[in-house]
Amino acid sequence: MLTCDLCGREVSVKYPLTKCGKDLNWVPWVCHYCMAENCGVEIPSSLIEKLPEAHYIRVAKCDKRPLDKNWPDHPMKPDDPRLQAHLRAGGNYGVVGGNGLVILDADTEDVKRACEKALPKTFTVQSPGSLGWHLYYFCELEKPIRLYDRNKDNVGDVQGKGKMVVGPGSFHPCGLQYRIIRDLPIAKVSEDEIRQALKEWIVPEAPIEDSVKRSRREVDLLNINILDVVSLAGMRRQGDEYYGSHPVHGSKTGRNFWVNPSKNVWHCFRHGVGGGPLSWVAVEDGILRCEDVGPGALRGETFKRVLEALERRGFKIPQFIKKLEGLPDELSVVMFGSKYNMPVNAYKLKKDNGISLKLERGVK
Ligand SMILES: [Zn+2]
Ligand SMILES: [Zn+2]
Repeated sequence: MLTCDLCGREVSVKYPLTKCGKDLNWVPWVCHYCMAENCGVEIPSSLIEKLPEAHYIRVAKCDKRPLDKNWPDHPMKPDDPRLQAHLRAGGNYGVVGGNGLVILDADTEDVKRACEKALPKTFTVQSPGSLGWHLYYFCELEKPIRLYDRNKDNVGDVQGKGKMVVGPGSFHPCGLQYRIIRDLPIAKVSEDEIRQALKEWIVPEAPIEDSVKRSRREVDLLNINILDVVSLAGMRRQGDEYYGSHPVHGSKTGRNFWVNPSKNVWHCFRHGVGGGPLSWVAVEDGILRCEDVGPGALRGETFKRVLEALERRGFKIPQFIKKLEGLPDELSVVMFGSKYNMPVNAYKLKKDNGISLKLERGVK
């Protein structure tokens, strides 16, 4: 621990108090509070050039907390006198997203690498606390996107309207300053490019639900359990779900493939796709590429090949199902029913009378 020459506070970083306009016959080494108070905080001119519009707010001194209650609705221009007075007194400032600006908060090495690899280089600031990056982009974003790893830990954020990051030159509570690590023009990207680059960490709430729905449709006709076609060997358990490396295309993190036996679904986080046992058989046997799984994928020739694959695995497939042109949803079952002279409507029968079209494993 070091001791501030001015206030006596114990800190881990000290700054020489030079160029602060004070008439001192010695150079005190001071804490970040005294540094901010005596020298102020400055918005780098290179940021102002790139972002001259109203994107700035007042943030507490050596802190991350916005000071003004309605800050999301009232960002200031960089030369706003209220902001300038606040900075001269040593306050921090924040940069607010929205109005075409998006700030991608990348908190882990993996997320940083993905940005490096898949997005254009852009103006980048490093937070001294987490060593996370703030990557600035011009982008129209509908709503902020939170990034999660498979432990459901938040590993970053794509900040748009109503979100802010602390700006470069501000002091982090740890005593170090946020600094520009890449002074480049702010790159233009689309929301799709961002989603594509970060898809591994974008929790696809809706797709998971889609997987569940699709699986229900599959299971309604073919009563197969996901555990009949996916082995949990080598997978790890979290709650009532299991995760591991995708058995077909693998995983960099070893956790992109999830199986939920109680919902009878699998899900791939690399491709944001999933479904029930049939679509899994299609992927595992190379009939469908993982990324092509989705609504309407189990049709035509693909569907026929999946049924053959199931038979090879020992499942007995009823004749009428073999005549189907695909795995029907509720509406198309009605059509198939009349077309193939099925007992009125297999789906409806099952729902109304509890008659189940059950496939039994190993029965030939
Ligand atoms: Zn001090
Ligand atoms: Zn996949």
